Amino acid sequence: MTDLIVACRDCSKAFPSGELQDLRCIGCRVHRECEAERVAIALYFKKQQRYSAAGAIANPKQLLALKRHLFARVASLVPDPRQGMVLAEKEYDLAVKQTNRFRVSPEEAGALRRKVLKTLLPA
Ligand SMILES: [Zn+2]
Repeated sequence: MTDLIVACRDCSKAFPSGELQDLRCIGCRVHRECEAERVAIALYFKKQQRYSAAGAIANPKQLLALKRHLFARVASLVPDPRQGMVLAEKEYDLAVKQTNRFRVSPEEAGALRRKVLKTLLPA
């Protein structure tokens, strides 16, 4: 039986039905699953901007750890490593772009940060 060509429910692009899960393409699934990681990176840049305006120098290891975490998360969702790299770069770029129009309450930011920490430091 051949695959049906079906529209992804998030981006509306057409995909063979076998590539969709829950009617979503891999790119949209990754995007949904990595929200906390994107938010963590956007919050990092936002805070870094504030502090560097005051003359502080941020430790680059912290951003590296956040980026590594995002890439590991994407890799866990995408079987093909090459496609995983492409999608991870895309999510990272989105996080950076998100920085300046980022609006989130301190409570939401705290909850997202805790979610990221929990996955970074499994019990
Ligand atoms: Zn999609």
